[in-house]
Amino acid sequence: MSELTRANEPGVWSNWLGLRQRGVPLSGTGTIVTKQTLMESGGLMAGLLAECTGAEAAPGLLARLAAEAERAGASDIHIQMRGEAAEVRLRLDGVMTDAGVLPSGLAERVCGRVKFLARLKTYQESLPQDGRIDKADIGTAADVRVATYPTVTGEKIVLRLFQGDQERVVGDLGLPEGARAAVSRFLKQSSGLLLLTGPAGSGKTTTIHACLRELAAEKGRHIITVEDPVERVLPGIMQTEVNEARGLDFACAARHLLRQDPQVLVIGEIRDESTAQIALRAALTGHLIISTLHAGSCRGVFERLSSFCPDASAIASATSLVLNQRLVRRLCRGCAGGGCPGCLGTGFAGRLVLAEFLAPGDEVRNLVLSREFRGIRAEPTLADCGRERVAAGLTTEAEVLRGL
Ligand SMILES: [Zn+2]
Repeated sequence: MSELTRANEPGVWSNWLGLRQRGVPLSGTGTIVTKQTLMESGGLMAGLLAECTGAEAAPGLLARLAAEAERAGASDIHIQMRGEAAEVRLRLDGVMTDAGVLPSGLAERVCGRVKFLARLKTYQESLPQDGRIDKADIGTAADVRVATYPTVTGEKIVLRLFQGDQERVVGDLGLPEGARAAVSRFLKQSSGLLLLTGPAGSGKTTTIHACLRELAAEKGRHIITVEDPVERVLPGIMQTEVNEARGLDFACAARHLLRQDPQVLVIGEIRDESTAQIALRAALTGHLIISTLHAGSCRGVFERLSSFCPDASAIASATSLVLNQRLVRRLCRGCAGGGCPGCLGTGFAGRLVLAEFLAPGDEVRNLVLSREFRGIRAEPTLADCGRERVAAGLTTEAEVLRGL
């Protein structure tokens, strides 16, 4: 089958863009259909606009946009008002990709529709708002999180789609074997602290959800989370959200939730002294605690934790495992990076996790106690993991450098 024929199959980019309906020729040249060439012909929006017409176009257009973005595996849809019109972009495998323009008139109605479905104030454009669209109202596989923000050219709306990790457990994450084994060991403990680190979009939430699925499957343990916000509802787990506006921050929530008799408590993020101290104390008093902390490395986690908590011995004895992770794009299995219709000509399809971990033994504990953080180092490192993935032909050096 030629690449052009494949590109005409349902589910592949050409159909995605509604090109057949618009009669854009795809045959005769032998060129590979790429994201770029298709975007030049008007983008996803052009195809959808041709499909959805009439006075009531906005609801249909939004539903189709969400469905197509979901099918392409996008994590987010970005709608940026530019005066009366709006630019639409998708985040695909972590990379922002232009999807075309919503014309004036329609753009405002689509934004209004998003806000209506998310139960936001439709007339409010000068302050940020957060909401959620029920999956039944928009036709996606999971609920959609909505965040608006006023910009100098008009409102910006981000729709976060949740997909891809529905049933993932720790073994499905693709962690390097050492890290996977360390996480599995941790989950069997009855107390201790697991700290995940990595920038936004490095898959920390996916890893935590995989841990939770594994813990919930065992039964018999009371598992509670406090998240900001809850991104996915998981069966068998008591999930709660912070509400900073009402004073319910991570520290306050965790303090109260510990009285709900949890055996496992997930605290979305440690970003202040009180949360750090509550997490450490809970981990030392018979609770399994999982949280995240902003730091660039395993060593950085200990440094940051020490800046929040003067009690080095609590840090040394409570911290069972530190996991530092990144996501990089995976080379397309169909063309090994050459570019084919299956990967939309980008050479990449899907993502790959890079990770380093540290399960402190006596040596690391002593370094923490003496605040000699410079001696703390994960082995193998994140860079070693990246080199290994490149050597295995799974990704490229440039992609690893971008990810680190
Ligand atoms: Zn390919």
